[in-house]
Amino acid sequence: MSDPEGIGTLTGPSLPAHLYVHVPFCRLKCSYCDFFSVPVEDAEGVEAVLAGIEEEILEWGRARLSGILDTVYVGGGTPTIIGPGVIRILESVRTSLPARTDGEVTVEANPDSATARLVEALAAAGVTRVSLGVQSFDDEIIGLLGRLHTVEEAHVAARAVCDAGLDLAIDLMCGVPGQSLRSWHCTLEEGIETGAKHVSVYPLALEDGTPLAVAVGAGLVSSPDSDAAADMMLLAEDVLGAAGFERYEVANYAVPGHESRHNTAYWTGESYIGVGPAAHGMLDPETAGASGVRTGVGTDVARVRYSNASDIEEWLQGAGRDVETLSKAEVAREDVMLGLRLARGVGARIVAAAGLEEQLRQLEAEGLVELAGGGVKQRWRTTTRGWLLGNEVFRRVWLPDQ
Ligand code: SF4
Repeated sequence: MSDPEGIGTLTGPSLPAHLYVHVPFCRLKCSYCDFFSVPVEDAEGVEAVLAGIEEEILEWGRARLSGILDTVYVGGGTPTIIGPGVIRILESVRTSLPARTDGEVTVEANPDSATARLVEALAAAGVTRVSLGVQSFDDEIIGLLGRLHTVEEAHVAARAVCDAGLDLAIDLMCGVPGQSLRSWHCTLEEGIETGAKHVSVYPLALEDGTPLAVAVGAGLVSSPDSDAAADMMLLAEDVLGAAGFERYEVANYAVPGHESRHNTAYWTGESYIGVGPAAHGMLDPETAGASGVRTGVGTDVARVRYSNASDIEEWLQGAGRDVETLSKAEVAREDVMLGLRLARGVGARIVAAAGLEEQLRQLEAEGLVELAGGGVKQRWRTTTRGWLLGNEVFRRVWLPDQ
C-alpha cells in the first residue's frame, strides 16, 4: 500500500482497501459525456456484463489476499439503470471479499432511475451513500446537457435517498453555455435544500467528438466561457461555505464528516481495484504480481496502474489489461500532484523528497500555492487562485521540466 505521508510501509501483497465497479450502461448519452458507457439495449447484454463483473470480483476473492475492503464504489455509466443488477453486484462483493462492517458503499445514480423502491433496496443491501447526477436545477441547462431528467425528478430522487437514511451526494456543473450566474446561484441553493451532505462542483469541459463540442464547433451553441466558470466556482465556495460545507478537494465540498472516503483514497495514492469494462485500478507491485495483473515486476516499479478493456465484447472474452508502471520518482511526483488537489495540501517533507521544492517555490511566487504551518507540520497548499488554474499547477508538478 502506498504511504505518501510516511506513516509506515506495508510490504507484501494485500487486498486493496478500495474497490471500484464500473457499470457501463446509460439510458442514452448526454451531450457532453466522454465517459465509457453505452446505451442499455437489451437484458441479455446487461446479463452478460453482470456475469462478467461477478466473475471478476470472484477472481479477486480467489487470490486470497490478506486485507479488508474499506470502500466500495459502484459507478458508471448509470448503475441505477440496471435496477436490481446493482444489488447483485453488491451481493457478489459481500460473498467474495472481506469488508469492514462500517465500510463506505456508494452507488452512482441518475434522477430518472433512482426510484424510491430501488433506493430502499440499496439501503437494505448495505449501501451508505448515493451520488446523484443532478448537474443543474434549471431545466433549460439540463436540456442543453442532453440529460434525460427534470428538476422535479431530481428533487424526488434526492428525497428518496434522504428518506432511506442514506448520505446524499450531488454533482453540479457550472460554466455551461447560456448558464447565468443567477441560474447557478439558484442551483447551489436548491442543491443545499435537498439535504445533500456532499457537493461536487465541476466546470463543463468540452470533450472532442461529443455532440455538444460538435454543436459549439458549428456555431449552434456558444463556447463555454472560462471566466464565467471561474466566477461560478468562486460563488460555489461562498454559498456552500455559508451553508456549512468545507471545500476539501479542488472540486468537492462536504459537511465535515461526510467527505468521500473512496475518492480521498484516489487523492492520497492508496491502492484500489477496478472491476468491469474500462475500469482502472492501481496496485502496489507485490499485489499486482500476486493477483496476476502483472508479472515480472522490475526493481524500480513502485506502483502499477491497469485498465480493463473498454470494448465490452473484448472484456467479456478476457482481453488482457493495459498495464503501466510508475517508478519511485514518478510516484513521488504523483503524490505531490494529488496532494495539491486537497485542501489540507501535502507535507513539505514529501515535496522535498520528491525533489519538487523549486517548482513549488516558483508556483508560490505566482500566488498559486502557499506554505502553511511550521516545523515538521509544514504543508504546501494550493491557493484559491491556484485552484482556479488547477490544471496548470498539476501539470507543472507532474512535468516539472516542461
Ligand atoms: S449519465 Fe453520466 S455517464 Fe451516462 S451519458 Fe450522462 S454523463 Fe455520461
